Amino acid sequence: MDAVIKNFPRAEDSKNPDIKRPTQAEAEAAVRTLLLWTGDNPDREGLKDTPRRVAKAYRELFAGYAQDPAEELGRTFEEVAGYDDMVLVKDIPFHSHCEHHMVPIIGKAHVAYLPDGRVLGLSKIARVVDIFAHRLQTQEAMTAQIAGVIQDVLNPRGVAVMIEAEHMCMAMRGIRKQGSTTLTSTFTGSFKDSPEEQVRFVTMVRDGNRG
Ligand SMILES: [Zn+2]
Repeated sequence: MDAVIKNFPRAEDSKNPDIKRPTQAEAEAAVRTLLLWTGDNPDREGLKDTPRRVAKAYRELFAGYAQDPAEELGRTFEEVAGYDDMVLVKDIPFHSHCEHHMVPIIGKAHVAYLPDGRVLGLSKIARVVDIFAHRLQTQEAMTAQIAGVIQDVLNPRGVAVMIEAEHMCMAMRGIRKQGSTTLTSTFTGSFKDSPEEQVRFVTMVRDGNRG
C-alpha cells in the first residue's frame, strides 16, 4: 500500500528559540509518569534508571532542534565549471519520529538538485536529512523541509526529494499495516516545471534498486 503525496508545500523550519526546555529532573519525572501510564511499576529494579536513560536518549534522538540545516549547508559550496547536470544522492538511510505518536519512522531519502554553477559537498546532503530526521516529523513536512533548505541556501535550478519510509505507528498500532511504505516527493524549480526531469529523477533513483 503506497500513499503518494506530491508537491507538498514548503514547511517552515521547526526550530523555535522561544520554547523553554524543562530541566533534566522534570523530563525524568515525565518519563516516570508515562511508565506508570503503561501499567508498570517505575520503582522496580529494571525500571529504576529508565527515566534517566530515556531523558538522555531523547537528547540524542531529538538533537536536530539544536542544529541549523541552513548553517550546515552554508559554507560548503564548490564552484564547478562545466557540470550542470543532476547531482543525486540516493538511499540516505534515516530514523525519525512521527509527531503524532512519537514512535519511529524508518526510511531512506533520495535527494537531487540541478546545479547552477556550484555544488554542495556530498556529505552535506546526508547531514541535512539527518538534522531534520532528529526532530519530530511528518514525512510530508520532512520532504518539504529538505527541498526547501537546499533551494534557499544553494539556489540551484531545481531540487527533487523523495522519501520512502515505514511508520511504526502504522505497523504497531491502529490498523497494523506492517511492511507498508509511504512515498512522498516534492520538486522545485526546473524539476517542478518539467515532468521529464521528474521521470529522470525517479528513474535514476530506481535504477540499481531493483531485485
Ligand atoms: Zn504516528
